[in-house]
Amino acid sequence: MNENIIELEGIAKKFGSFYANKNISLQIRRGSIHAIVGENGAGKSTLMNILYGMYEPDAGTIKVCGEMVNFTSPTHAIRHGIGMVHQHFMLIPTLSVAENIVLGQEPTEHGVQIPFREVESQIKVLAKQFGLEIEPTAKVGTLSVGLEQRVEILKVLYRKADILILDEPTAVLTPLEIQQFFGTLRSLREGGKTIIIITHKLEEVLAISDSVSVMRQGQLIATLPTAETDKAMLAKMMVGRDVLLRVEKTPSEPNGTILSVQSISYKNAKGISVLENLSFEVQAGEVYGIAGVEGNGQSALLSLLWGLLDEPHRISGEVLFCGKSLLGKSPREIARLGISHIPEDRHKHAMIKAFSIAENLVFGRQHEREFLSAVGFNTKKLASYAAEMIRAFDVRVGEKQAAEKIGNLSGGNQQKVVVAREINRPELKLLILAQPTRGIDIGAIEFIHQKVIEARDKGIAVLLISAELEEILSLSDRIGCLFKGKISHEFSREAVLQGRKSPENFEKEIGYYIT
Ligand code: ADP
Ligand code: MG
Repeated sequence: MNENIIELEGIAKKFGSFYANKNISLQIRRGSIHAIVGENGAGKSTLMNILYGMYEPDAGTIKVCGEMVNFTSPTHAIRHGIGMVHQHFMLIPTLSVAENIVLGQEPTEHGVQIPFREVESQIKVLAKQFGLEIEPTAKVGTLSVGLEQRVEILKVLYRKADILILDEPTAVLTPLEIQQFFGTLRSLREGGKTIIIITHKLEEVLAISDSVSVMRQGQLIATLPTAETDKAMLAKMMVGRDVLLRVEKTPSEPNGTILSVQSISYKNAKGISVLENLSFEVQAGEVYGIAGVEGNGQSALLSLLWGLLDEPHRISGEVLFCGKSLLGKSPREIARLGISHIPEDRHKHAMIKAFSIAENLVFGRQHEREFLSAVGFNTKKLASYAAEMIRAFDVRVGEKQAAEKIGNLSGGNQQKVVVAREINRPELKLLILAQPTRGIDIGAIEFIHQKVIEARDKGIAVLLISAELEEILSLSDRIGCLFKGKISHEFSREAVLQGRKSPENFEKEIGYYIT
């Protein structure tokens, strides 16, 4: 039997004149977990979509189990034992788990009802075997994202796939769900399945894969046994140069209080205390990092600072911005004072996917004189501004440049547009960042971190709220540990700069105050 279940040879795929994949050759061993890593836009999804029959390659050959194949559709790939779970799930919320799983492959015997009892018991067997326990009769609309993912994987297994392609499966999972999910991957491997997992989290590659391929700008840079790699080596291959992983910065020069949160308490509609006597200050020219496990008041604090917590009777305490109260002000009034927000959920709150990059670069700023002409909006000015921002923020755009819809960009590039807009306001005094680099790749993270430090160095006050300790440690001049709605401990600038000798020790110490 052929040891390699998949053999790709010289695969190329062009979109217009742009090569999304170029001369890719790759073998994947039967029964292994193979990771594919690369920055956003490297061509990972394109390559897997080709293997799954969604796209036909412009050049190259594919062999499955030693047999040359020419897939023209996913149905065709499924018949050869290949299944794929996409980054965005394709389930129907109003149908049950079992209905979603059989959807698209109902029995073809004319008019025969689907034997649901049988389907349900088959699903239960599969679920048990691979640690994907789920109630087959539950409506998909009631499930958490982690459970939805189980349905997608079961759907692939139900079609008897031997090769599972998972596109960024962990992006939507909580840390606990990721651990369970890794358990599932291991039992799938034990059951003889071959798994191809796309991710850009290097810890995950090291934790779960047997071998790893690195892609960059449409090309395959290397395929290696995971045991022979490490994080720095993979990161370097991904971006083509040494990655800092920790940002270089000089000590800050704090220069007067910009934001002062004073004994804020807030009870939600159910009467539960969400913020309790919360106090901290952010100075001009410093990054104040709030470390904490999500659910300890981060969202309420962000809403409060964004003017979205309009329930004055549930709030006590004071929030001062440059000495004046922010309480009771609307989001628009707050923005006009010189406060920028980079929200946690950029898709919902920071951009309009169907609008162009240029348009997304000026949301909330259309009224600024810079963009107005005698007859209204100055489109020429906007075009040149957008081109300048795309250059300055290294936004990787397609052929349409600034006219491209922002929805067509990768996550990292979308976030660069949002950051460009929010950081580049002339009157900016306070920049509030919530999970600013969640789900984006290393190169873009490094870039955004540098821009944040540049803003700090210009004297802007930065409030960073992040669940990533590494991010908090890289950027912050002072750290507040948020636990159960208040700052349980604050680390000084000196402690942060020295990193308490080693970052690992410091992380442990912070961990003590946030759990
Ligand atoms: P990755 O999955 O590594 O983030 P993709 O394979 O999705 O990258 O994309 C690789 C490149 O090809 C990107 O620059 C992307 O914009 C482009 N691309 C992907 N799909 C299409 C498409 N259907 N039409 C045009 N360009 C595309
Ligand atoms: Mg992708």
